[in-house]
Amino acid sequence: MKSVSEVPVAVVGAGPYGLSVAAHLGARGVPVRILGVPMGSWRARMPVGMFLKSTPRASSIAHPEGRYGLNEFRADRHLAWVGDRYAVPLDEFVCYGEWFQQRCVPGVERAAVVRIAGAPPGFRVSLDTGEEFTARTVVLANGFPSYARVPADLQPLVEAGLASHTSDHADLAKFAGQRVAVIGAGQSALESATLMYEAGAEPVLVARTDRLLFGEPPSADRPGDRAWPTRIAHPASTLGPGWSFVGFTRAPAAFRYLPDDRRAALVRTVLGPAGAWWLRDRLVGRFPLLTGHRVASTEVVGGRVRLRLRGSTDTLEVEQVLAATGYQVDVDRLQLLDPGLRGALARRNGGAPRLTPGFESSVPGLYFTGLAAADTFGPMMRFVCGTGFAARRISRAVARAVDR
Ligand SMILES: Cc1cc2nc3c(=O)[nH]c(=O)nc-3n(C[C@H](O)[C@H](O)[C@H](O)COP(=O)(O)OP(=O)(O)OC[C@H]3O[C@@H](n4cnc5c(N)ncnc54)[C@H](O)[C@@H]3O)c2cc1C
Repeated sequence: MKSVSEVPVAVVGAGPYGLSVAAHLGARGVPVRILGVPMGSWRARMPVGMFLKSTPRASSIAHPEGRYGLNEFRADRHLAWVGDRYAVPLDEFVCYGEWFQQRCVPGVERAAVVRIAGAPPGFRVSLDTGEEFTARTVVLANGFPSYARVPADLQPLVEAGLASHTSDHADLAKFAGQRVAVIGAGQSALESATLMYEAGAEPVLVARTDRLLFGEPPSADRPGDRAWPTRIAHPASTLGPGWSFVGFTRAPAAFRYLPDDRRAALVRTVLGPAGAWWLRDRLVGRFPLLTGHRVASTEVVGGRVRLRLRGSTDTLEVEQVLAATGYQVDVDRLQLLDPGLRGALARRNGGAPRLTPGFESSVPGLYFTGLAAADTFGPMMRFVCGTGFAARRISRAVARAVDR
């Protein structure tokens, strides 16, 4: 079926960022079509049994009236209030996101956008249902999966079905009985290896870093209950305690003025490779941790992968390789954008879109939020706690443009 209708705004994606911006636009009276599976990435691209690294306070999707937080959801379900010492289980967070969606953005359409092309003064949006419509403004909130990064030397293994990225899996129990090299040292690597081990696989962690890092358990559920010298030395923020985190969360608009290489380094390293405090005991001493090792080359021998390593262990033979090697924003990888639109996007730092203070790209009317905005507004955009700043700015800018 092909119909061509026109809407002022299309939001692509119904994860935390898409839901929040749609709720804010709705509150401003701007008609929106929002497309995507609610909490789709959290259901299909994260492993069953995972816990959030962010605290409950930092895991609430922003609503224009400051309502519908994670603890309001828990109260609605007759569950007790939880503070910073509670690790939020993935399934609880998915249910919370769906609860937020049903109350605040009930009109989400579970369709996938397959193409966005320029159709001045707006865009032509094509869906997998066969429908096409035009939108004056498009907000891309399609999340992290398109930007999954697998190192070039592992690519041939991916093509041979012997390696994959963490975002390819929702259930790591499928590796039970297999020896798997997990590459990386961040939360995703450490938690994936642990979940695999607990499901009966034999993970071997291969990490370049000499020492695995873990966070410290919070000393209180409410940051204000900490001793005052601690509160001064390590002030609270949604990214964690510390003055630099206060800067990133209170002044994200200033981040854009830092030099290119400084911004890139900060996005990569702030809250970078480190496990959550509650993970250490489930991991250390359970399976081999080859720290100080890097993969030098790979070879397939008899259907298994032989990794040549640089480090004290020379070779490692496994049945599968799991790349927990993170994400790299590059708009060239957004296949849903027509090549003409992709080509017109100004970018920096290896492919991140250059954005205005209102999150608009160099293509008028095309906005980016979430991870794709981290190069402009800093590390907060990698986490749920950035939804408020992004949604307020985008909804203000879009409402003004729609009024014009
Ligand atoms: C393993 C892992 C653990 C994490 N843990 C935390 C944590 O503890 N705390 C935290 O704050 N952050 C965490 N993050 C980061 C987290 O991914 C982001 O905070 C959050 O998901 C960003 O929300 P989003 O809406 O931008 O993207 P996503 O959650 O990725 O949502 C994207 C949405 O877009 C939809 N979509 C994609 N393509 C299309 C299309 N073509 N058409 C229609 N819809 C489309 C998807 O279905 C989905 O609805 C974690 C990330 C990973 C990978």
